[in-house]
Amino acid sequence: MEVERIIGSYSSKINGPLLFVTAGIHGNEPSGVIALQEIFTELHRSKPQINGTIVGVCGNQLALSKDQRYIDRDLNRTWTKSNLSTDAVFPHELKEMRAIISVLKHHQKNNHEKQYFLDCHTTSSASVPYISVQDVNDNFTWAKHFPTPMVIGFSDIITGDIDHYLSDIGLTGFVFEAGQHTSQDAVVNHKAIIWLALKEACGLHFEQLSKFPESVTTMVNQHRSKQKTFKILYRHELKKSDLFEMQPGFENFSKIKKGQLLAMENGAEIRSSWDAYIFMPLYQPLGDDGFFIIDTVV
Ligand SMILES: [Zn+2]
Repeated sequence: MEVERIIGSYSSKINGPLLFVTAGIHGNEPSGVIALQEIFTELHRSKPQINGTIVGVCGNQLALSKDQRYIDRDLNRTWTKSNLSTDAVFPHELKEMRAIISVLKHHQKNNHEKQYFLDCHTTSSASVPYISVQDVNDNFTWAKHFPTPMVIGFSDIITGDIDHYLSDIGLTGFVFEAGQHTSQDAVVNHKAIIWLALKEACGLHFEQLSKFPESVTTMVNQHRSKQKTFKILYRHELKKSDLFEMQPGFENFSKIKKGQLLAMENGAEIRSSWDAYIFMPLYQPLGDDGFFIIDTVV
């Protein structure tokens, strides 16, 4: 999909927070972009009053236009100190990164009392929507305002991701995984989380929209029970030479029992040592992680 760097921005000229929403950091994940486009259309049509500003920014513009995950490097691994201090033009993603930063810097000139980020993603397999949050700043308290499950500590495993960068420079926020890349549910879930963030951060009243957003109703109805928070207990790393085959039927947040057969690796059984939940089971031929084990925290 061809998309402008700034997908949209909206304010009612009232002082308040900045809500910085990024979508399509991975070029094969268009659903956050579609959600933002629909949300800005509705905001400009119904002109509700909000505090502060929302700006929606496109991630890997060139990769989105080619429907590829990235051009040279994963744009969610390039936000490292050394990359941030160079003006190199290879890999291509460094240019995308600098373009995103310049949009943020432009908006930061307006002295917002508080700055939030929301980074929109999707997953290769079907999944219930969830928040992935780094427990720094007041990210965790902020993420508690939303109804979907929350996983803490996943982004601590990776480096160079945009949520680390944004948290490091003082923004409050999280990554939202909305479901399978091309599913209609992912667009609905992205719309819901962005509407809810507008309500929580900028004081949007849904009654001021042309109609109450159905996406919000759908999400809230699906997550009626108390929000569950999960921590990563174990990461099953793979070596390139490993022959790994996940047992069929697992999804994100599937419950598992101690002793349950999870996978076959190099001809041997891998059984669970936990009564817990499985996270990101690998069903593709390539990957560094076979699965994660997560459990609820109170
Ligand atoms: Zn992604």
